[in-house]
Amino acid sequence: MFDPAIAGSLPKPAWLAETEKLWPQWRAEGEALATAKLDATLLWIKLQEEAGLAVVGDGEQSRQHFVHGFLEQVDGIDFAHKVEMGIRADRYKAMVPQVVAPLVLKGRVHEAEARFLRAHTDRRIKFTLPGPMTIVDTVADRRYGDRVEMAMAFAELLNREALALQADGVDIVQFDEPAFNVYMAEAADWGVKALERATQGLTCKTAVHICYGYGIPANLDWKKTLGEQWRQYEQVFPALAKSSIDQVSLECYHSHVPPDLMALLGDKEVMVGVIDVASDQVETPEEVAETIGRALQFVARERLIPCTNCGLAPMRREVAEAKLRALGAGAALARSRYGS
Ligand code: ZN
Repeated sequence: MFDPAIAGSLPKPAWLAETEKLWPQWRAEGEALATAKLDATLLWIKLQEEAGLAVVGDGEQSRQHFVHGFLEQVDGIDFAHKVEMGIRADRYKAMVPQVVAPLVLKGRVHEAEARFLRAHTDRRIKFTLPGPMTIVDTVADRRYGDRVEMAMAFAELLNREALALQADGVDIVQFDEPAFNVYMAEAADWGVKALERATQGLTCKTAVHICYGYGIPANLDWKKTLGEQWRQYEQVFPALAKSSIDQVSLECYHSHVPPDLMALLGDKEVMVGVIDVASDQVETPEEVAETIGRALQFVARERLIPCTNCGLAPMRREVAEAKLRALGAGAALARSRYGS
């Protein structure tokens, strides 16, 4: 009960990549880089275990960015000629690659790091992939001319990699869909369907992470425009409740999301964000336990998974480490407080 997990990403050590950046440059190349990525993965496996997390991830140490890490293994995408595009309904500009031909997976995307993760921990392991709708919102389309059709094409590729991850021993495959909080009607309409296509045939747990983004300035400015109550989840949660997806990761602590929206998820397992990723202030175990207590009004305790609001990638490493420990200690405190 209250088995803690993280949303996904963790900071890269200074010897692996530039720090406190969303698109960091690697510090090495070739073999040396491949080794450094796995060394960093091992470091974070150990730190997650020590913090008391029940589910362990690779901290996304092997990818530069959560979307482009996948796209680099897809044929039909032109990375040589990136174009500037407004993404997440123009919240920020990014240089994005272009889809120019039918999409085909070149081969495995995350085999090395998934097997490495499996080999180095006995805990349950989670692996994250970008969701189809978020991918569609992070590339320029010069081929399909239709967002839904392109999302379904990406979903097929994601499904192949997800099935292979399951065969590698992954217990939970999670898709990150921050775009669900931006295009709410489309998310409820076809975003969830694309997600289900991506999880087709999986017998391991499936999850979706929906957030308000990393604690970067563009996101903090955007959040200021969302008003007193953030009700974005209200449209997509009922669609997810009816879907085949097992777990939903959402923001809670320090967000303006009305906690009663969690009740819209029906019998899903809920990864409740009890750690703020937009502040360096480290939560106390008491604060974490209190957030869990509030969420218990709307989520049954056997379905509640204490989690971070989002990834911790752009944070300072020592802050992220302290937040992992707060998450583990807070979950333990909640177990003693609400466990019986
Ligand atoms: Zn997130």
